[in-house]
Amino acid sequence: DSRLMAEAMSKCAAEGIDVVRLGYSDIIGTDRSKDLLVNRFERTTGHGVAFCRSVYGTTPMGDVVDIEGGLAAGLPDIVAYPDIETIKTVPWEPGVAHVIADVFNPDGSPSAESPRYVLKQVIEKFSSIAGTPICGPELEFYLLEESDTNDSGWARYGESPGNVYVSGLRGDPENVLLASLRQLGAYDLDVIAANHEFSSGQFEINLWHSDALDASDRAFRFKAAVKEMARAGGKLATFMAKPFNDEGGSGFHLHFSTQDAAGNHLFDDPNSHNGLSAVAHHAIGGILKHAPALAALANPTINSYKRFGPDTLAPWLIDWGLDNRSAMVRIPPERASASRLELRLGDASANPYLLTAATLAAAYLGIKNEIDPGPALEGYGYDPERSPKLPSSLCEALDALEADSEMREVLGEGFVTTFLAYKRNEIERFNAFITDWEFREYTYHL
Ligand code: GLU
Ligand code: MG
Ligand code: MG
Repeated sequence: DSRLMAEAMSKCAAEGIDVVRLGYSDIIGTDRSKDLLVNRFERTTGHGVAFCRSVYGTTPMGDVVDIEGGLAAGLPDIVAYPDIETIKTVPWEPGVAHVIADVFNPDGSPSAESPRYVLKQVIEKFSSIAGTPICGPELEFYLLEESDTNDSGWARYGESPGNVYVSGLRGDPENVLLASLRQLGAYDLDVIAANHEFSSGQFEINLWHSDALDASDRAFRFKAAVKEMARAGGKLATFMAKPFNDEGGSGFHLHFSTQDAAGNHLFDDPNSHNGLSAVAHHAIGGILKHAPALAALANPTINSYKRFGPDTLAPWLIDWGLDNRSAMVRIPPERASASRLELRLGDASANPYLLTAATLAAAYLGIKNEIDPGPALEGYGYDPERSPKLPSSLCEALDALEADSEMREVLGEGFVTTFLAYKRNEIERFNAFITDWEFREYTYHL
């Protein structure tokens, strides 16, 4: 509204901001943006800012996928309007503020493929039966530096022998993590902690919890910010799920709970045998039942399925456990206002809006249909005799999403159709490509 716009504009003037970057998330979670001069911002955004719809059908490598209303329809416009409450000063780019946009079709209807819109729709459904969902994202990523000796041209930053988990400067000689944490804090992303992860070059930063939309906005901005800052410093930050054969993958753990309007924590029940409410059990039941479809959004790349496996701390089976890091759904030990579940399924490559939307959709279905999750796992979680396996490929997960009519309905048929077209194009291109592994395996002996 106009009061918020006026406030934002005077804040820009006070802080010496001359450019506002208007950005939104495409399907894979890339921040697509245009820079607008602040003295024309209000005028320019009044009727929306036009972008080419190709962003919902163009792969990272630039190929155009044939989605409905895409190239065959002449790649019509989509129109972005700022959600002015989300404006934030970008601390590492003097004079620039960033604002998140919502995306519409030229006729004024919301763009069904917009991940932020998909999430808003799911939150509305969830809230109609089970309160306001609260999420806390945790993201792992690798920092790489240029290298002449490595085929790809990139090597792990701070490569060091042995266990570098939470080892501070030993695995981060340039203190990159601390500098990033400070900048992300100044960007008002409510980051709380940063640490060196288990693998060389791998780091984790945790975000404080808040309502699901705000948490996803922050996680979306966090990923873009980490990548931008790394590039500005001559490094490459990657949220790819499993970039190396000899090191672990990068997870995107999502902590999740829900509150009613009076502030009651609906996942908590001090009188139940494990301190969790029936609603929490049903939410877990829905997540387990719909896990194969959920994986399509939580693990959205061909590479994602190489992160799963026994003894990895990434999941491999569809199970849940109390304070058990080998389970797909872990219930952290805190109770009362901190009663929550941690979904460990997602990998860092997931689009935060879509991972969150799919998690809430599955939990919503579980709560609505009162799905029993079965007994919690005890002990070792990687026993395939005991629990069903997650999909072993993107192809399987996409088929599971297509077959799951309840998940399709909650997420929106239009979005799911586009997502499937886009992702199946990815698989088609991969299947036609000869990899290094095939060459090594087959040339000499065959
Ligand atoms: N890197 C592991 C994953 O892919 C998680 C390790 C941890 O528990 O922090 O999910
Ligand atoms: Mg971790
Ligand atoms: Mg975690």
